[in-house]
Amino acid sequence: MQTNFNIAQLANPDIEHAEKILRSCVHCGFCLATCPTYQIKGDERDSPRGRIYIIKDVLENNKKPDKTAVRHIDRCLSCLSCMTTCPSGVDYMHLVDHARYRIEESSFRIWHDRLLRKLLSYVLVRPQLMRLALHLGKYPIHIFSLMPGKFGAIGRLGKIKIPNQSKFSKPQTFLPKGKRIARVALLAGCVQQVVGPQINESAVRLLTKMGCEVTVIDGFGCCGALPQHMGKREEASSLARRNLIALSIEEKKNGNFDSFIVTTSGCGTTLKDYEKVLASEPDLNRDSRRFASLVADISEFIHKYDTTIPEPISKNIRVAYHPACSLQHGQKVVEAPKELLKKAGYKVLNIPDSHICCGSAGTYNLLQPEIATELQIQKAVNINSIKPDIVATGNLGCILQINQSVEVPVLHIVELLDWASGGPKPEILN
Ligand code: SF4
Ligand code: SF4
Repeated sequence: MQTNFNIAQLANPDIEHAEKILRSCVHCGFCLATCPTYQIKGDERDSPRGRIYIIKDVLENNKKPDKTAVRHIDRCLSCLSCMTTCPSGVDYMHLVDHARYRIEESSFRIWHDRLLRKLLSYVLVRPQLMRLALHLGKYPIHIFSLMPGKFGAIGRLGKIKIPNQSKFSKPQTFLPKGKRIARVALLAGCVQQVVGPQINESAVRLLTKMGCEVTVIDGFGCCGALPQHMGKREEASSLARRNLIALSIEEKKNGNFDSFIVTTSGCGTTLKDYEKVLASEPDLNRDSRRFASLVADISEFIHKYDTTIPEPISKNIRVAYHPACSLQHGQKVVEAPKELLKKAGYKVLNIPDSHICCGSAGTYNLLQPEIATELQIQKAVNINSIKPDIVATGNLGCILQINQSVEVPVLHIVELLDWASGGPKPEILN
């Protein structure tokens, strides 16, 4: 794609980066076929190529994004399906980041949208505050669930069951069972430790059984993905900076990690991208690069070591595997989760159109509930068509989203792997 930036514009590192990405697009349009929002809306401006043109126009002409530009950029799920399809390797993920930063800086949004985004980015990254808000707001929030749009979507949060706080998410070290094969860190997560603490409990049991020493690092909090996806660059980079400091303190005290394990693939994609998240902090370049190289999705890590599930139990259970977009498109981890489930004795089923997002996408289901609900319904139809006993995935957001529309239990794959290798039966299956 031809671009027309002048020398002064290209002196800005953001523009220089965006220009390189824009030039790699050959506007072939292959990406349209796999873009969920284009499939739903049928409007070129809701496709990757259409958004690329919008972003080019905003950046090249140094415009404040107008109402139309904001609407179509906001509708992007950041599912990255377009990146898997694109034959030219267009780095859409970072291009749309630039557009979101520009929208956020331009303060274009109306006050209640700004307020909602502020509230979400403040509360969701603070597990204790989120727990309190969900408890206190349970009944008033529940009333909103009957309303349409964003209020209804936020109201439905009141229906989420909040388990008791788990001691597994607290900073500590779990010793390996038997000979130590690796020292790993485990991300406790923010939303996950409040609404899905059993996931990290399963992860710790699996990893220690494999021979890993597992540490939940003191001071390592939210990865920054939620503010990053809302265009809040400063917030995301300050969370990333704080995390690298916490990592460095722990490593100085107790030695380097061999890997940093993540059980929420949405977070994993951002953690693997810390070099870009921290692009404005050159003093952290080396640390962020090294950290990103340590990050592994739990399925990737277990698959690599290939030591778990000593005696798989043949359960003859039909498991529909839902590949989270962040895992299949963002991190290109495709086969490992399915192979692990098969090895553990489950009958793994592929969901039709599994490359299409379920509509969760971080806070997307709260901010764009109409499109998110359409995608959720489509996903449920596809899941029901293969008649599984269980749905398994690697991302909490997908679990919560799919759970609202299918009758069968939806679990994280580590819960199933843990069960198959001698751990407790997941409570939801009792
Ligand atoms: S598939 Fe890639 S090169 Fe083709 S229009 Fe889409 S982003 Fe551009
Ligand atoms: S990230 Fe997903 S929703 Fe956004 S343009 Fe790409 S395919 Fe479409």
